[in-house]
Amino acid sequence: MKILVINCGSSSLKYQLIDMEKEEALAKGLVERIGIDGSVLTQKVEGRDKYIIKQDMKDHKDAIRLVLKALVDKENGVIKDMNEISAVGHRVVHGGERYSQSVLIDDEVMKGLEECVKLAPLHNPPNIIGINACKTLMPNTPMVAVFDTAFHQTMPEKAFVYPLPYELYKDHAIRKYGFHGTSHKYVSQMAAKMMGKDLSELKIVTCHLGNGSSITAVDHGKSVETSMGFTPLEGLAMGTRSGSIDPAIATYLMQELNLTAEEVNTLLNKKSGAYGISGVSSDFRDIEDSAAEGNERAQLALDVFNYKVKKFIGSYVAVMNGVDCIVFTAGLGENSPETREDVCAGLGYLGVKLDLDKNKVRGKATEISTPDSKVKVFVIPTNEELMIARDTKALVCK
Ligand code: AMP
Repeated sequence: MKILVINCGSSSLKYQLIDMEKEEALAKGLVERIGIDGSVLTQKVEGRDKYIIKQDMKDHKDAIRLVLKALVDKENGVIKDMNEISAVGHRVVHGGERYSQSVLIDDEVMKGLEECVKLAPLHNPPNIIGINACKTLMPNTPMVAVFDTAFHQTMPEKAFVYPLPYELYKDHAIRKYGFHGTSHKYVSQMAAKMMGKDLSELKIVTCHLGNGSSITAVDHGKSVETSMGFTPLEGLAMGTRSGSIDPAIATYLMQELNLTAEEVNTLLNKKSGAYGISGVSSDFRDIEDSAAEGNERAQLALDVFNYKVKKFIGSYVAVMNGVDCIVFTAGLGENSPETREDVCAGLGYLGVKLDLDKNKVRGKATEISTPDSKVKVFVIPTNEELMIARDTKALVCK
């Protein structure tokens, strides 16, 4: 069985064709500049040169048409006919309270997705456009929606209700939703496997540290607390996002600096975080390099980031009354030994002992704690696409 996984952004689209027997990606691709001059598709297949198609794509339908063409291309493709694609799994950012699991897409679900647009006005519309484009081009292929928010729907009320007027929750759906759910779910399952235990026996803190970052408390397989909130702005400091700050800063900026709501939104989402503090870059590699050359603001950006990660880990251990393992994943979590060492350096009181040699690993599933560490620490590369494909297969084969 082969499943196509699609992740649509506003002007880009990522895809993978996954062989479910081996759970391996046959092809991975990226389409950029959809609807903009200079559209380009890049497809990678293990052991072959990149296949690049430069061709104007006015919309996502054009892009998906080209994806299918690239997949069946005689020389560069990986399948003979698009009928070999058994199903399509779509990443959808926001499923609101309606979707606590992945769903097979039908007309009713399409209406439900539209209703979630107000909760994620930047992210859900391109997801919906991508689904509609696929439905037009592959009318007989079943499609599944897999939500970033779904895994966190198990959080108890005390974790997801904000201390605001309760009507704002009931009438306007303002509550904590959490994101990166597919990643937190995948790495927690992998951690249980690596420990040779069942998820239902474990208390796990999963740290997804990338451009956007979030931490989740996974208690007996269920998300019980997560750091992102109503939007992906809450929680940790991130590449360009502030994470949690005193909310009064927003109104102060509006009153004292005469910023509009839109300008405050841009400042908090695009000009803050590690980029805002360092003034160097939003890419942690650049910030680490600059700090190594003596840039104090770059070092401060890293210190603030790591300090917040440590604070969240500590509080999530409190939430679960213990922890069996801590997982690092995503760009920074998988690839930055410095970040992991700095975060874990303050966790000795929990029984965390890092093996500094093993911690040198980058991008490979590895246990990085010492054999006598009470709490196990893992690096586990995330694989959201595989998780989406697994959910898709499970629903289509029901
Ligand atoms: P993601 O959003 O998961 O793709 O992660 C992107 C972030 O991971 C960027 O800030 C990268 O700088 C960071 N990253 C990727 N590789 C490394 C590395 N080798 N060392 C430090 N940070 C890295």
